[in-house]
Amino acid sequence: MTQTLQAVRGMNDVLPDQAELWERFEETVRDWLAAYGYRNIRTPLLEHTVLFRRAIGEATDIVEKEMYSFVDDLNGEHLTLRPEATASVVRAAVEHSLLYNGPQRLWYMGPMYRHERPQKGRYRQFHQVGVEALGYAGPDVDGELLLMCARLWDDLGLEGIRLHINSLGSLPERLAHRDALVRYLESRAAELDADSQRRLRTNPLRVLDSKNPEMQPIITGAPRLLDFLGPESIQHFDGVQAILKDAAIPYTVDTRLVRGLDYYNLTVFEWITDRLGAQGTVCGGGRYDGLIEQIGGKPAPAAGFAMGVERLIALMRDEGGGSGTLVDVYVVNQGEAAARSAFRAAELLRDRGFAVIQHCGDASFKSQMKRADASGAAVAVIIGDDEAAAGEAGIKPLREERGQSRIALDRLADAVSDLLYGEESE
Ligand code: ATP
Ligand code: MG
Repeated sequence: MTQTLQAVRGMNDVLPDQAELWERFEETVRDWLAAYGYRNIRTPLLEHTVLFRRAIGEATDIVEKEMYSFVDDLNGEHLTLRPEATASVVRAAVEHSLLYNGPQRLWYMGPMYRHERPQKGRYRQFHQVGVEALGYAGPDVDGELLLMCARLWDDLGLEGIRLHINSLGSLPERLAHRDALVRYLESRAAELDADSQRRLRTNPLRVLDSKNPEMQPIITGAPRLLDFLGPESIQHFDGVQAILKDAAIPYTVDTRLVRGLDYYNLTVFEWITDRLGAQGTVCGGGRYDGLIEQIGGKPAPAAGFAMGVERLIALMRDEGGGSGTLVDVYVVNQGEAAARSAFRAAELLRDRGFAVIQHCGDASFKSQMKRADASGAAVAVIIGDDEAAAGEAGIKPLREERGQSRIALDRLADAVSDLLYGEESE
């Protein structure tokens, strides 16, 4: 017996019923990005492994245990399926000297790969929409990024997505805080779980990122990075908050928000909903002023965010965002002459901008009419031997109680237009 094949664990097929919602999401996103003047960039799904090691940081979840890395049999190259796209976008911007033409507002959309334990809202192939504002020091552009997100939730019809922000300050400020944090955590080492003990040695800030409830009291008592910020960092953070206040966007300063990647400084933020259970973060981002230089470019500031498409689509589905009718007309036909006439009728209708499904394959009129109904089309155009011989077609509205009428093929598009939009639109 042949074994049935299945998709790779944690990687999902998006079937047509779902894909319609995805397309609506993508259309909304494209309009939204255009409204802020961001330009699309497309980078490969595969990069040299060293890119992510260098950009994301060795002591991060992603690099330690989530990357799909392999050696290319054919030439021995160490490659990785991208776990995120910021590193790739920065690599591309540096490689092609994009910043020589001034700062760049860029966006991307596509699949990312992380070897995580699959669960609701967490997959091994998932999708992100992200933007990178390269060459901007902020805080104005940080504010823009946050206003953008707020507008997208609105455009998508999503409510109750809350904003958490924090500032990670500058490197010396982080180091001073890190010293204090390590001293504090060492004093409570016996209470740390295994993961946090390991993080204490490799990347102590990440202990604050622990999701283990037992770790929460320890995290709450830890020294706050915010208390180590100097005047410049504070001024930057105040600038971001002033923009949020002007725009009346509510937010919470969350001093424990550190984000999972190493490259952030100053502003970091997450947008969170309560409606997706444990996987409630729909968007995360912040400022990463050191990354461009780290990847070999001329030093330049930058900020960006990435949002989880699957999680946003799950929210859209909860809000009852179904799919609308996709076709206008279903062309029913039977017999050889009728099939030829049906091709003509369908093409004439498409010339006028209608979406048309032409029935293909043998079937009775009755079963074709059932298909027409199930297709969601508003109108059935019906062509049998009689109609074909006369150069005519039958028309029947499918969504209202009205009989079938008959019309010459060259008047068909007008007649369908009348039915769909009313006579007065002529
Ligand atoms: P988490 O703490 O949930 O693992 P993260 O900090 O690893 O999140 P980011 O790298 O900031 O996530 O990615 C930005 C967004 O991408 C997340 O907020 C989330 O919406 C989405 N995302 C991240 N990992 C996954 C995944 N494995 N499956 C689905 N969506 C994901
Ligand atoms: Mg993660």
